Amino acid sequence: MDIEAFRKAGYEAIDRICDYYNTLESRPVLAQVEPGYLINKLSTHPPQEGEDIQEITADFQRLIMPGITHWNHPEFFAFFPSGSSLAGILADLYSTSVSNPGFNWICSPACTELEQVVVDWVANLLSLSPAFLNSPPAPVHDQPPSTTASSPSASPPLTPVESSGTSQPLLGGGGSIQSTASESVLVAIIAARHHFLSYFSSHSSLPPPSHESLIIYLSTQTHSLGLKGAKLLGLNYRELDVDEGCEWGVKGLAFKNAYDEDRNKGLWPFIFIGTIGTTSSGANDHIDEIGPIISQLDSVWFHIDAAWAGVSFSCPEFRRKGKLDAINKYADSFCTNFHKWGLVNFDCSILWVRDRAALTASMDIGSSTPSFLRTTQSDAGLVVDYRNWQLSLGRRFRSIKLWFVLRNFGVKGFRAHIRKGVGLAELFERLLKGEEAVEAVCEWKMKRENMFEMVTPRALALVVFRLIPPRPSPPESHNALSQETLNALNITLHQNLTHPPTPPPLASSFIPGSDPSVSNALFITRTELKGKVCLRMAIGAERTTEVHIRKAVKILERVGRRVLREAGFAVGEGDLGACAAETKSAQTE
Ligand code: PLP
Repeated sequence: MDIEAFRKAGYEAIDRICDYYNTLESRPVLAQVEPGYLINKLSTHPPQEGEDIQEITADFQRLIMPGITHWNHPEFFAFFPSGSSLAGILADLYSTSVSNPGFNWICSPACTELEQVVVDWVANLLSLSPAFLNSPPAPVHDQPPSTTASSPSASPPLTPVESSGTSQPLLGGGGSIQSTASESVLVAIIAARHHFLSYFSSHSSLPPPSHESLIIYLSTQTHSLGLKGAKLLGLNYRELDVDEGCEWGVKGLAFKNAYDEDRNKGLWPFIFIGTIGTTSSGANDHIDEIGPIISQLDSVWFHIDAAWAGVSFSCPEFRRKGKLDAINKYADSFCTNFHKWGLVNFDCSILWVRDRAALTASMDIGSSTPSFLRTTQSDAGLVVDYRNWQLSLGRRFRSIKLWFVLRNFGVKGFRAHIRKGVGLAELFERLLKGEEAVEAVCEWKMKRENMFEMVTPRALALVVFRLIPPRPSPPESHNALSQETLNALNITLHQNLTHPPTPPPLASSFIPGSDPSVSNALFITRTELKGKVCLRMAIGAERTTEVHIRKAVKILERVGRRVLREAGFAVGEGDLGACAAETKSAQTE
């Protein structure tokens, strides 16, 4: 393709993207295709002759778009949000246009230095401790290295920012952009293990702990990234139990008891992966209790996975609940994903460490570094080479996305986005509990049946709930119903929401006056907490508004009512039925 053909196709692509966003809301959130839909349509080999770009882009619309689940849709409530913003899309385009694997500073100095700056921007936005900042780095030599002497005299004095070779002076902390929270945790575990073994060998005359005696601590609520990290590294792990009475987080005592027990067995817990904002319920581990205990132990690393919730620290009012003070005081590493609730298109997971030398010591092959990867600036320790901060050598130019997004939204706009998500989750909770009318017109006659129960306290923009038969019908309370029955109801509800029966979507007789053409689909995720099947409503797409939340509650009530009836429970018409009937008779009068 020549540049003019690219220009034409590029303009068309932007037009199509704009049309896509303009029509997004009219599309079903979940791709309406069956497994194998695409594989069966594509040939098994690439074409021998190059094809016209117009044909390829037409096939994108025809073949690919139908198989897309729309994460930017305002009614996307599944998993955790992972949308993109228009500023981020443009940034991605620019990033790709200057293709660059960024493993060393010299690969593209802008790529490395922009990352150093914007990651600090984010640390400041989240109010992370200055200990995690890339700059200003603590000096490691009294005098700048000799190479700086030949620098032009007008330049500011250069200070080493990275250890060179194998020596590892303490340089303070720093942050880098990894692909995912899963990769961040893997990097943290590797750094923690290296740090622990180095500490052990310099502080003990005993033989080093065996590989088998090392243990990763996590909790029953840690994202599966913990177990995967342990599996990949062939390490043992222990899942600490969470305290249901204490909002589903690990308590200090649970940590201490487990640690003492394992030490008595000769085992070495060397990292605890704490979570702020667990996937199932948005819970926080009690890191304010665990932190002081860990800080007394021999070189146990404290990693905090705040993949989803971490961006909420941008708003001062969410910092206390998220235990930011304890993170700042005790965490060795902290990770949050801007590709979740943070408006940056996938991928953008930021990992900060308190001691960057501990990280680079575990990733840097030091004197074995081949000469093709060495540079004068690196050898002098004047620059950051991100290859020593991550698993792979090459990396994407991700900082440009953060730079565009943070500048385009500004701190105020970014905070407004986070606050909107939390506000909408509060509204959802009120609606579901029947504390507020779904339809404003019926407010005066609200008397809702208690069809839903909150399983855990709302966490930021996440609401975890389950369907229960309304009381007093049936006569026995739902507590007397078996877990199995309640679980079956919720599994059925979830199936009906994600794959509503067609046609007709639902028997409209349940709701007099309801419009059968209105979709009953709602894309939310199911989870399980201590044997209880429940549903998660995760809010956070940029375009979600109150209208979408009210619609979601209507769907839940309508489908929930049907599921209960079909299971033999007595349920009334509900407010929506009453409301619709009321509105109809008012219209005919
Ligand atoms: N940690 C938590 C708490 C999560 O909820 C998730 C995903 O939802 C992850 C980690 C995994 O994130 P990633 O896909 O970036 O590895």
